[in-house]
Amino acid sequence: MTTSAEIGPAAVALSDLLAALTAADLVAIRGHIDTVAPGMLDQADAAAVAVEGRMQQYAAEHGALYRRAAADEIPEWIRFGVVEALVTFSARRATTCQHAPDPARPQPVYAAAWRPGVIACAACCGFLFRLAGDRDRTCDRCGHIERERGVYPCSVALGPLTFMFGLCHECRPDVTPEATS
Ligand SMILES: [Zn+2]
Ligand SMILES: [Zn+2]
Repeated sequence: MTTSAEIGPAAVALSDLLAALTAADLVAIRGHIDTVAPGMLDQADAAAVAVEGRMQQYAAEHGALYRRAAADEIPEWIRFGVVEALVTFSARRATTCQHAPDPARPQPVYAAAWRPGVIACAACCGFLFRLAGDRDRTCDRCGHIERERGVYPCSVALGPLTFMFGLCHECRPDVTPEATS
């Protein structure tokens, strides 16, 4: 059983590894997964395609910025949050929604910076991660409370996981340097 004391260091190592992986490494890893768990990659790919589709749709509907990024382009604190959520989920240490998403059956799942250790399915993410008042206006990077404007809702997807976080006006350029407003 993986303990929570092991998850932190594992997530740091994986986060660093993710930033250093080459395309050839990924092909080799996929080949290995295909051997040990046939069919799982197809399911994981389908989930990733669904996640990307949802992100594009959200961006189009809300006029949000959307882009594909390599792992090493993602700020480290976000990459770590994404990987920590994936590691916690994969080690079956996450608290999940009532539909009990299972890492062995890839499907789109959601995690939030403000509720670490919780994984929700698409149907539940809306209410499981809902915040109210100042907590809804708190920047997940610096802790500043944006009482007037509220924080910018942001998300990063990796495979089947969408990791959500909110940024204050000062921190927003950390993920969207191209944003002008
Ligand atoms: Zn659910
Ligand atoms: Zn901030």
